[in-house]
Amino acid sequence: MQCPKCSTAMSSLEGLAFSADRCNGCGGVWLSDSDIDVKDHAVAIDSIDTSIPKDQPSFNELREINCPNCDVALMKMVDLTQLNVEYETCPDCRGAFFDAGELKDLSEFTLLERLKLTWETVRTNLK
Ligand SMILES: [Zn+2]
Ligand SMILES: [Zn+2]
Repeated sequence: MQCPKCSTAMSSLEGLAFSADRCNGCGGVWLSDSDIDVKDHAVAIDSIDTSIPKDQPSFNELREINCPNCDVALMKMVDLTQLNVEYETCPDCRGAFFDAGELKDLSEFTLLERLKLTWETVRTNLK
């Protein structure tokens, strides 16, 4: 699979409860199923979503991209709980593309929410 933003090859990530590919260039992550709740997979996402390398130009502004599966234009989405995170989903296969760091933002936001509720439980789980 080729990255829809920077055209670098993407590597599929093994050992996850969901299907994901990460771009070897810009660090963007493609989820084959945008219906998964990233908030349920915060720990896994923390390990796959490496932040963008400092010397790498950001592709965050590039929004007119096509699905790496179907080649149809992706739709821009905004996470309703975190309006600064914009991502793209495919209307056909329901895959979703996140720029480097965006998935982490989403999952960390929820972790913080949960910390407020059950601080001790979360702290144990993260160890
Ligand atoms: Zn890329
Ligand atoms: Zn698609």
